[in-house]
Amino acid sequence: MGFLLFLRVFFLLLVAGAPTAQAWGKEGHYMVCKIAEKYLTKKASAAVLDLLPESAGGDLAAVCSWADEVRFRYRWSSPLHYANTPGVCNFEYSRDCHNSKGVQDMCVVGAINNYTTQLLSYGDASSGYNLTESLMFLAHFVGDVHQPLHVGFAEDAGGNTIIVHWYRRKSNLHHVWDVNIIETAMRDFYDNDLGSMIEAIEMNITNEWSDEVSGWKRCSATTSMTCADKYASESIRLACDYAYKDVEQDSTLGDDYFFSRLPVVEKRIAQAGVRLASLLNRVFRKTEEEEVLQLVVQSVDEAHAI
Ligand SMILES: [Zn+2]
Repeated sequence: MGFLLFLRVFFLLLVAGAPTAQAWGKEGHYMVCKIAEKYLTKKASAAVLDLLPESAGGDLAAVCSWADEVRFRYRWSSPLHYANTPGVCNFEYSRDCHNSKGVQDMCVVGAINNYTTQLLSYGDASSGYNLTESLMFLAHFVGDVHQPLHVGFAEDAGGNTIIVHWYRRKSNLHHVWDVNIIETAMRDFYDNDLGSMIEAIEMNITNEWSDEVSGWKRCSATTSMTCADKYASESIRLACDYAYKDVEQDSTLGDDYFFSRLPVVEKRIAQAGVRLASLLNRVFRKTEEEEVLQLVVQSVDEAHAI
């Protein structure tokens, strides 16, 4: 395919909102960020608005799939969308967070920690980071770490090499969790309207899951302020208990699988949204506290100078 034609097809696919491989599809990420927007404090909202690129039109959700769009341009970023375990149902940072060359921290959990640290320099004029990109990466990766098969087994690349039929269509297990379950739910229950699906998930957050929400937000981190390692541990557990369970090469997955797994997908999207907001709230509360501290130090220094 000629390069220009390729570009054109690529662009058309983007416009059509076609799902890209290996991440919650566009819809999944959009929902996570839309839910997060609702839970941002005023301070965090203002900082997010300040950092968003113009193309976002003031909407974080509009750039939540940006990291997928640049993963081939920024080749180094490709391993940051997931983590793999050696076929076991638990996540261990020192064992599992590396890229294929064994470089440590190059996985979704390391990326969340790294971009959170970068965002803490918001307001610091000497920060050399592109914080717009840090924000777009962070919003995306908090979504990814909640997709159970983004913390899957190395040997099947998080379900990518497990070929299945989703009802009558050929797919792979990873794609079923990124896209197919959400697509089928949208068609069967929400009249293909993403807004309705988001509303339904938000209703569950305030009703059915309301007792659990403070637990989702709790983060008494021992190693980082993000708790991303905890979210990765939950994901591989869910991958074992739900995603991989009763699935083999060439399995046909239909109603039984769909109805028992959809609640897991919806809850993971809700958790990702709530936790993304609470992480951004903590980051920007902190940066403000630091700014105040800096001002105090400055004025003390100035007072001394006088
Ligand atoms: Zn991704």
